[in-house]
Amino acid sequence: MAQANGNTTVVVVGGGVAGLALGTFLLRSGIPCTVLEKNSREHVEQRQRAGSLDGRGVRMLHEWGVGEAVEGHGDERSDAVLPLILHGDKRTWRMDTGEDGAGAFIPQQVLVRNLIRIFLRDGGDLRFEAEDVALDGLDTEQPRVRYRDGEGTHTIDCAFVAGADGFHGVSRTAIPEGVLACHSHEFGYAWLSVLAEVPADPSAVMAVHSRGFAAQITRGPNASRIYLQCPLDDTVGDWPDERVWDEVGARFAAPVPRGPIATKQVVPLRGVVFSPMRYGRLCLLGDAAHLISPMSAEGMSLALHDAEVLAHALVHQVEKDDPSLLESYSDTCLAHVWERQASAVWMTDAMHDSGDASYRGEFRKQVALANLENLVQPRSA
Ligand SMILES: Cc1cc2nc3c(=O)[nH]c(=O)nc-3n(C[C@H](O)[C@H](O)[C@H](O)COP(=O)(O)OP(=O)(O)OC[C@H]3O[C@@H](n4cnc5c(N)ncnc54)[C@H](O)[C@@H]3O)c2cc1C
Repeated sequence: MAQANGNTTVVVVGGGVAGLALGTFLLRSGIPCTVLEKNSREHVEQRQRAGSLDGRGVRMLHEWGVGEAVEGHGDERSDAVLPLILHGDKRTWRMDTGEDGAGAFIPQQVLVRNLIRIFLRDGGDLRFEAEDVALDGLDTEQPRVRYRDGEGTHTIDCAFVAGADGFHGVSRTAIPEGVLACHSHEFGYAWLSVLAEVPADPSAVMAVHSRGFAAQITRGPNASRIYLQCPLDDTVGDWPDERVWDEVGARFAAPVPRGPIATKQVVPLRGVVFSPMRYGRLCLLGDAAHLISPMSAEGMSLALHDAEVLAHALVHQVEKDDPSLLESYSDTCLAHVWERQASAVWMTDAMHDSGDASYRGEFRKQVALANLENLVQPRSA
């Protein structure tokens, strides 16, 4: 049986959706763990990013007894018929909720805030402002994690490390060169991602236009995120507020309520997968292991999926001394990741190629439009 060699059984690096969910699942399974988060609690509880969770993620949180993390948000997507403005023509498509049922529109910072509250209430060990995290002995039975905070340098011995520190974290870089393969796909365009202090009504609207793709998605009662397809070399300086609102109106083919803009950033659209997702006693999860096109809005859902698979594998190992689930962890997650990447690539191509033909030409535009026509309700509906 795997023992807690030293201070804890599992050190989780990163207190985002993946790390907090894993920590919560482990704690509820009686597995000691410590979560190390680089930033302050205030910072992570206010960091606005994603907002869409699939039905599987919602169901999973309920099954682990932490459905309260999405309470008040769980039913918003239940019968979602999303408006799509296809070259100025108002159409709709019914979201496929799949066998897992309804998903939720929940601002990521709200989910993170709720998971932190639940984890600490359960007695979890969550250390904020843990800087300079370094991982040693990952290929031994007793990895060692070092970090620094205001009180000095600390060392934690453990049996396993979970790398949940996002795409730019340190966990993946602790794996020796040549072990991981990186597979990536660049779509060839970017999104100007804008956080506006004005609600989206309805909660999600998308538009396909010859000027490019546009979307406005709710992020709570007083905020929404706006996405505008733009060239990769555009900068935030190219997009003064006035131009953002003019462009949204043009692509939606209708005026939209304007409001203050809080943040803007240019995000290249791409998919990235690192394989395998395990090295020795280190398992990667969430954005540390993969990025998915934001068109799919599945980053948070994939992070939760990895967390659940890893929680079951670690519980199996620690309680039953059975490494089989840990050994298949990477394959299990990657099968799901590739399935979601395939769907994300299809959806991203359909939504973008059918708009501005200057990226991939008229042939691809017509094919993408034909694909979209099969997705949306007939014009007369
Ligand atoms: C603008 C934007 C919009 C998005 N929209 C959506 C959407 O609608 N739906 C969706 O599902 N996904 C969306 N995503 C993706 C989604 O936000 C991510 O996939 C999700 O956050 C992944 O969770 P994670 O826990 O793996 O990583 P993260 O949320 O990045 O969490 C990693 C954590 O690790 C911490 N950390 C980093 N380095 C260290 C270190 N060295 N030591 C300790 N801690 C460290 C970070 O501070 C962070 O708290 C969006 C992303 C962006 C940027």
